[in-house]
Amino acid sequence: MALSKRISAVAPSATISITTKAKQMKADGKDVVSFAAGEPDFDTPQFIKDAAIEALAAGDTKYNPQKAPQLRQAIAKKLATENGVNVTPDEVVVTFGTKHALYAACQAMIDPGDKVLIPAPYWVSYPEMVNLAGGEPVAIEGTPENDYKITPQQLLDAAPGAKILILNSPSNPTGATYSPAELIELAKAVMQTDLIVFSDEIYEKLIYGDTKFVSLASLDSVVPGISKRVVTFNGVAKAFAMTGWRVGWVAGDKELIGGIKRLMSHETTNPVSFAQAGALAAYESAEAGPTVEAMRAEFEKRGIHMAARLNAIEGVTCTQPTGAFYCFPDVSSHYGRTVGGVEITDSLSFAKVALDQFEIAVIPGAAFGADRCIRLSFATSMEQIDKGLDRLEKMLG
Ligand code: PMP
Repeated sequence: MALSKRISAVAPSATISITTKAKQMKADGKDVVSFAAGEPDFDTPQFIKDAAIEALAAGDTKYNPQKAPQLRQAIAKKLATENGVNVTPDEVVVTFGTKHALYAACQAMIDPGDKVLIPAPYWVSYPEMVNLAGGEPVAIEGTPENDYKITPQQLLDAAPGAKILILNSPSNPTGATYSPAELIELAKAVMQTDLIVFSDEIYEKLIYGDTKFVSLASLDSVVPGISKRVVTFNGVAKAFAMTGWRVGWVAGDKELIGGIKRLMSHETTNPVSFAQAGALAAYESAEAGPTVEAMRAEFEKRGIHMAARLNAIEGVTCTQPTGAFYCFPDVSSHYGRTVGGVEITDSLSFAKVALDQFEIAVIPGAAFGADRCIRLSFATSMEQIDKGLDRLEKMLG
């Protein structure tokens, strides 16, 4: 069938296709070590499951636009108390995961030809979401010397004529986190432009060492007016090990929220009713804090271990991730080598050799706009990390 031009132009998500291929190889009996997945390996905490089960048992099975109003209230309260961001429940909309929140916001804000600034390396879906809305993604290249973060000057240089900046800290794929001081400087730069910022804060809970997380929209006292320029995105997937539940949200300008609600009224109606009950428990239960902390602490140990082992491999350099659960090493000094008769020329051929010959699934950096690198998720057990890195050492030895 002849598909629409719009859909024909969309590249499939590289992360999802490699994860799927690795899963298929496992199902075929291959002993694949997967560093591909962008999701916690932990199960959803029991108190969250219980809340959803209770909701089901109580008949919470009907159309439920925006679990009115408890979940939006809980999100507004979370934003005020944890993040210092002040919104009313009417300035929050709950979506089918944070991916959907970002997609819907792009549909609501972007007209054909609008320029959207995306710091690179970037999460694989941002450019495609902008393309799908008819906008023009414009990459701003972060440098390895600056942990792949952009500087205020780079932002000011790129800003003329652009409408939106999509900022993601902690970052998928780099694992880098903007410090409060860096965010303040970026916020000041934003105020010198006409930009609206989409702040994707999905990894806020997963930060390591002495890293501090700050919401961009909380900086009004230092950078007056910034909160009015920021739309905040978040969800329960990463912090609470709830990737399959598909609950995310967006908070900000009431007109934008109204636009997204109108879109959703024709598109999805509401996120799953009982999944929203689970999300409500995640935000309201006293058990949430210690449970999230236990997962965070485990990720931290793994991230330190993985980065150290990667750096010990000759020709591989990896900065220590300060957030999220990814290492993003530069492996480009190995490009040009031939392994098992196959020449490695770029991140794609690197990932192909790793999977086909060594049964390690990694994501090529090209998917994130950084062909020198590959992404390895440490949301897997220490044992798997060691097994996979033993194989990577062998591949590059
Ligand atoms: N933003 C970033 C940066 C992500 O890495 C992801 C998940 N890979 C999402 C958004 C989407 O999250 P959700 O599962 O809530 O749709």
